Amino acid sequence: MSERKIMAIGAHADDIEFDVGGSFLKYQKAGYGFDYIMSTNNMSGQIHQVNPDGSMTRLECVPGKMEEIRKREADAGAAMLGTRPLHLDYPQRHYSAPDGHRINADYGAPKPENCTCDRPFIMVAHECPAEVKRVADLILERDPEAVLSHGLVTDSPEHYATGILVTKAFLQARKQGYRGDLYYFFELCESSMFKREFFFWDSFIDITGFREKQFDLIRCHYSAVPFPERMDYFDLTPVCGCRDAELFNFFRPEGQQKPSARGKFTEELCRNYRPHRWYDPGAEN
Ligand SMILES: [Zn+2]
Repeated sequence: MSERKIMAIGAHADDIEFDVGGSFLKYQKAGYGFDYIMSTNNMSGQIHQVNPDGSMTRLECVPGKMEEIRKREADAGAAMLGTRPLHLDYPQRHYSAPDGHRINADYGAPKPENCTCDRPFIMVAHECPAEVKRVADLILERDPEAVLSHGLVTDSPEHYATGILVTKAFLQARKQGYRGDLYYFFELCESSMFKREFFFWDSFIDITGFREKQFDLIRCHYSAVPFPERMDYFDLTPVCGCRDAELFNFFRPEGQQKPSARGKFTEELCRNYRPHRWYDPGAEN
């Protein structure tokens, strides 16, 4: 195993910063390095333009330009974590045409110009054995202490498509000797219905004292998230015993009852592991 290294595979520029940014900042201080990997080509999205009065206007952006902006921002985020992004470059499921309307990228759809579109679309990448093998080989080659990615309970289709791809690759890597664990992120997406209606996890990393710096990290993605401090973070003290934490779900492969500790990061996840925890943020706990 490469010493003190964690692999995170997010769908989009900013996902890693949002979902595990606090944990990574904490463990960076403890000497850890990171494999910062993005599954999509980041060609789709809107630019959040900040107006003089502090309000935001969302502007459509053509794929080539969007990819360039978001990858530049990912470089900045990864640099703060002492690493460089690796892009798997699966094209996103839609994009903006030059006249501003959205085009769905489905089976057989034409690929947009001026951006990286050599691979299958992200929604179907997990159905392609060659792509599953590509990610499995990456896990085997880098041999991180643990792999972190999107869970399957998320309202972003590109997040769960990434989660399925990573899960299949993880299982394949295990068959070939990989000994680390897979954990799913708990997503803090503001709009996520799951955050409020289906809130469960089984372990966490205490990131108390790292939230402000995490905002600086997220702010690297200025075109998408100019004001991360406006996000609605729960006080997790009643359930975790600490103000700020990042939550995870341990993916339990057949024949393995509990997560295993391979270093300080996974030791903390093992220490905080208690299966099937639920939380109703509106209820007294
Ligand atoms: Zn995302």
